Amino acid sequence: MDKPKPKISKEMLDKLTKEQVDVCFYKGTEAPFTGKLLHNKEKGTYHCVVCGNPLFPSETKFESGTGWPSFYDVIKKGNVKLEEDASYSMDRTEVVCSKCGAHLGHMFNDGPPDKTGLRYCINSVALDFKPISS
Ligand code: FE
Repeated sequence: MDKPKPKISKEMLDKLTKEQVDVCFYKGTEAPFTGKLLHNKEKGTYHCVVCGNPLFPSETKFESGTGWPSFYDVIKKGNVKLEEDASYSMDRTEVVCSKCGAHLGHMFNDGPPDKTGLRYCINSVALDFKPISS
């Protein structure tokens, strides 16, 4: 069965790169260790690249070694939606922007045990980083 085609406005298509469209609207995954925010350690907030919804605070970002930006918690409960994803014969939890529905990445249960124990594995291209202005 074909997946329904996502609704993408002309404005969005102009704003986003081809890779961003592939990840956010077609549930693609960027190649590991390629994202420009992977090693970003600045203080600030990570937003949805499509709609600007704030998603993750820099305080919860950690080095997971997986090659994708990893966070152990969201900025506010409800800002992301979790959905079951059985694609590629894997039982994964998909992380979606609750405001616009953009695909962001997946959530796993192997995060820092002294924190939440969760690992939000997020595509760098799905994120827009806004540093805290001093
Ligand atoms: Fe969004």
